[in-house]
Amino acid sequence: MAFAGVPSRLPQVGTTIFTVMSRLAAEHGAINLSQGFPDFSPPPRLVERVAHHMAAGSNQYAPMAGALPLREAIAQKAERLYGARYDVDGEITVTAGATQAIYTAVAACVRPGDEVIVFAPVYDSYVPAIELNGGKAVCATLRFPGYRPDWDEVRALVGPKTRMIVINTPHNPSGAVWSASDMEMLARVTRDTGIVVLADEVYEHMVFDGARHESVCRTPSLAERSFVVSSFGKTYHMTGWKIAYCLAPRALTAEFRKAHQFIVFCVNHPAQLALADFMREEPGFAAGLAGFYEQKRDFLRAELAASRFELLPCAGTYFQLARYAAISDEPDQAFAERLTREHGVATIPASVFYPTAEDHRVVRFCFAKSDETLAAAGRRLREL
Ligand code: PMP
Ligand code: GLN
Repeated sequence: MAFAGVPSRLPQVGTTIFTVMSRLAAEHGAINLSQGFPDFSPPPRLVERVAHHMAAGSNQYAPMAGALPLREAIAQKAERLYGARYDVDGEITVTAGATQAIYTAVAACVRPGDEVIVFAPVYDSYVPAIELNGGKAVCATLRFPGYRPDWDEVRALVGPKTRMIVINTPHNPSGAVWSASDMEMLARVTRDTGIVVLADEVYEHMVFDGARHESVCRTPSLAERSFVVSSFGKTYHMTGWKIAYCLAPRALTAEFRKAHQFIVFCVNHPAQLALADFMREEPGFAAGLAGFYEQKRDFLRAELAASRFELLPCAGTYFQLARYAAISDEPDQAFAERLTREHGVATIPASVFYPTAEDHRVVRFCFAKSDETLAAAGRRLREL
């Protein structure tokens, strides 16, 4: 008898849209504004330091929690930016990308039958991570077109089975940024409960127009129940290195590491040491990122001003949402595919971020690209 395979643990899941659209872009030679990654290089000094640490012999396993100099640099950064103190030994763990940190935090906390509140549109890895661990994702809505959380709705969704709330600010794909009062509401909703918060803050340094990033670790009553995740890939233009970290109080970190040590054990050693050197030498690099990406946002918006796309507000991240209802009434996936094939620009259809595939005729452009790339895309998009 032929082997029949296994019943799927994720029957609703196909291949992630980021792989699908980047592949389609390559097939058609399209300008790829779909998957989020820069088309420019990390700082040369950072690359040099990796080569240095490889030549100097740091080629074996790093410590399970992360290389000590990197955890020290992360602790200093959290204190400098957010006034939050995390212990280098017991409260900081270096991970293989934010994706692994998110998966590990969920695996460490969520049991079969637990509910986890997420906000739709929702980053594509959260719900599968919850479901693979037997949890049930419960969706709150960031209502179109403002993408603000509705705290009455969140309060109504919290119940005895709620184990965790996953938040993401600055938010992918909407570019919306949570305010201090959102954080206060989150603190109120979780007060006197056993709910854990998982805060995906990978775009923490990309907040525009003079606003500041409201990290959960600024609010002690949230920090005490939170995993805070950031990713070096976004900050230092090297998404392919897959290095990130998770901050959490000691008891949560202990549970996190029980899972982490068997999911990945540890993370690329020479790259961790290089990051530690670079953070020490150039502590201001991250602070320059908001201005750098704000300029790119404004450049793309200017390129599209004379197009028929309707640009939604973008307060953070390196993503710009645009409505195309004046151009076509196709569903967003069909539109995004046609845009790639016929007009040579790849985007992400926003409905993929909704478990219910809600379609507002919106696509997402990534503007982490050189001005030449953005200008070339602008020329093509203005023809539509
Ligand atoms: N969370 C969000 C909101 C993201 O946009 C991304 C990637 N762009 C990740 C997590 C994953 O980050 P990493 O590449 O470090 O795994
Ligand atoms: N997070 C990136 C995006 O939103 C993609 C990461 C990935 O391809 N998994 O485009």
